Amino acid sequence: MNLVLLFEEDFVGPDRVMLRGRRARHVIDVHRVSAGDELTVGVAGGGIGRGVVIRLDAEAVEMSVSLDRDPPLPLPLTLVLALPRPKVLNRVVAAATSMGIKQLYLVNAWRVEKSYWHSPRLSEDNLLLQRILGLEQGRDTILPRIELRRLFRPFVENELPAIVSGTRALVAHPPAPAPAPRTVPGPVTLAIGPEGGFIDAEIASLERIGFEPVSLGERVLRVETAVAAMVGRLF
Ligand code: SAH
Repeated sequence: MNLVLLFEEDFVGPDRVMLRGRRARHVIDVHRVSAGDELTVGVAGGGIGRGVVIRLDAEAVEMSVSLDRDPPLPLPLTLVLALPRPKVLNRVVAAATSMGIKQLYLVNAWRVEKSYWHSPRLSEDNLLLQRILGLEQGRDTILPRIELRRLFRPFVENELPAIVSGTRALVAHPPAPAPAPRTVPGPVTLAIGPEGGFIDAEIASLERIGFEPVSLGERVLRVETAVAAMVGRLF
């Protein structure tokens, strides 16, 4: 945890917070704080600063906080991700959040297993937790928006054209002959396929609305690695 993310309900005074639960246990057990220690804190949707531990017991930590800076600028990238397998979902949501992605669409695709849509990991609570973990990792305070789209075609035909408008639209596709561009000046919409990849018909519908299939080379990467490699290459 590189930043303790605070929410309105943590405040017990204008600049006092009381942490309990996961965050309190983490700063007690991992950071091993004692009274007087300082931690980087941020308020969800707001500024970043420092928190000084005033007192603590086995399950609660009280801090005085002062905010003095803005969170980092968002990454100008909208991620359209074929719904990954539940275990991978957690990692990729947290990783995408830690890299500064603020718009994430989880979409169906031919090779997405139907059962993934029934995973408890798609619950509001879990998706919020994974994003909080990503913000704590990346020292950021702005929660990304996540939208779920269970039908590929209507999403691509009716909604995606407006999302890609004004952006460079890229679909990461290992067999594509074009290499992924190295540094892009403006905003990007990036589509990442399921573990089995996008099928030809899906690539064709994405191309019809302006997506360029691009490759990171012949090695097939895991979804979360492909997202990180694309972000590192594009920005
Ligand atoms: N079995 C599929 C690979 C799927 S990997 C195939 O052989 O095509 C899952 C997703 O990660 C892909 O759909 C793509 O969006 C991205 N990805 C993984 N490795 C990549 C690479 N080398 N180049 C571009 N995209 C890649």
